[in-house]
Amino acid sequence: MLEINNLKKSFDGLEVLKDISLQVRQGEVLGIIGPSGSGKSTLLRCATGLETPDSGEIHYEGTFGLVFQNFNLFPHYSVIKNITDAPIKVQKRDKEEVFAEARALLAKMGLSDKEKAYPYQLSGGQQQRISIARALAMNPDILFFDEPTSALDPELTGEILKVIRDLAAEHMTMVIVTHEMNFARNVADQIIFMDKGVIAQQGTPEEVFGSSNERMQEFLGKLG
Ligand code: ADP
Ligand code: MG
Repeated sequence: MLEINNLKKSFDGLEVLKDISLQVRQGEVLGIIGPSGSGKSTLLRCATGLETPDSGEIHYEGTFGLVFQNFNLFPHYSVIKNITDAPIKVQKRDKEEVFAEARALLAKMGLSDKEKAYPYQLSGGQQQRISIARALAMNPDILFFDEPTSALDPELTGEILKVIRDLAAEHMTMVIVTHEMNFARNVADQIIFMDKGVIAQQGTPEEVFGSSNERMQEFLGKLG
């Protein structure tokens, strides 16, 4: 579903991604962990075309959705317009059908009563659920998340992790950058530990979390 080969990216002479290669199969969840500044966001931004790599190849099938740390909802659009705008304007899909799907997504997120609300009237957890609904409304083949819970109060984190867990149970293909280690361990099929622009560890959650890699242990230790 997604294949990245020998990806490299520098900013002002600083090599932020050094020869990154990875694969994600259909229905698989890839968890990406690692310290701040290790290149996780740059990797997602390159994979989704928000950033141009210096070299390397990125192949994926179909369309993708992206969920950011800070929700990135359009503040002047109502909830329903945030969800329906791109499918109607970009994908040129039938308006009635898009609205029906958007309402089904709102129901799935437990936010049917918020259709006419504006982002500022919602909690962070609600805004993030709307932003997931907005990504899903494009019917993506793969969903990318960049630290979807790190802007949320701890008590709101669980509701977002549950939504992502439910999507995994439905075999949605996902790439998730997260600092939630228990979540990564439980939901991911494959884990990548990034450190200073390289993939320092890669494998099943058991392999990566069980590894005696010094940088990995140091990273886990700092998280407590
Ligand atoms: P992470 O998401 O793992 O915290 P990032 O991918 O955001 O790491 O950043 C990796 C490194 O690249 C950092 O040193 C950061 O300062 C640098 N960086 C990221 N984006 C830019 C940019 N647009 N311009 C210059 N430097 C950048
Ligand atoms: Mg980041």
